[in-house]
Amino acid sequence: MSISKLCIALFISVSLLFLSFSTLFYGSEDYYVSYEHLMKHEVINEDYVINYKQRHSDITAIAIHGGGIEPGSSEVVKGLANQMDYSYYLFEGIKATNNSILHINSLNFDEPIGRRMAQNSVTVLSIHGYTGEKPIIYLGGRNQVYKELIRYSLQKRGFRVEDAPPHIAGTHEKNIVNDNQLKAGVQLELTAELRKSFFKNHDWSKKNRGNTTDIYDKFINGLKEASSFYEMYPTLYNVK
Ligand SMILES: [Zn+2]
Repeated sequence: MSISKLCIALFISVSLLFLSFSTLFYGSEDYYVSYEHLMKHEVINEDYVINYKQRHSDITAIAIHGGGIEPGSSEVVKGLANQMDYSYYLFEGIKATNNSILHINSLNFDEPIGRRMAQNSVTVLSIHGYTGEKPIIYLGGRNQVYKELIRYSLQKRGFRVEDAPPHIAGTHEKNIVNDNQLKAGVQLELTAELRKSFFKNHDWSKKNRGNTTDIYDKFINGLKEASSFYEMYPTLYNVK
């Protein structure tokens, strides 16, 4: 093998290695790149539903991977929003299986009602599900004040809160969580173990998601406390 061929072979191997590493760390590509793309293949009210309530709140809580896509995220959003009288938006998978195909990542997520609700809010709290065998909350987003209040209120209640690793840190401006008046929101990634603990018998199947636990109540109370503190923070009033 000539030197140039060897160099090309080496280059290709290194590139392939790099590609497989980036897939490992950044996750595989979504099946759908936009809502328009998804709409062409999936049927509303059959494969997915859009549930939302517009209220007069500065904070909007959202779960763009709700229902069966990232189980437990919808329940957190509804629990917080209904108890605090906040606007909320849920994009929920309702397929019998393979709801993960409905996952459009937070940067690309452009379903018009959801984007508009985010843009009309002062700030956004976006709830996601992540993998993980330990109950952990990964804290991300650009709204530092709201983030720290959430960290404080959840840690005080015994929850393990960690800074989100870069690929789920939710810091990109185009991420729906930051597409609001402050250009800054909070993104929480909840591990599978934590989300299962929100439901009786660790059963997060659709039929059991109405049966929430004390851990769920404690988690919602933490978010309520942090959000109430945050609403008293002056930045919120400067924006209006
Ligand atoms: Zn998600």
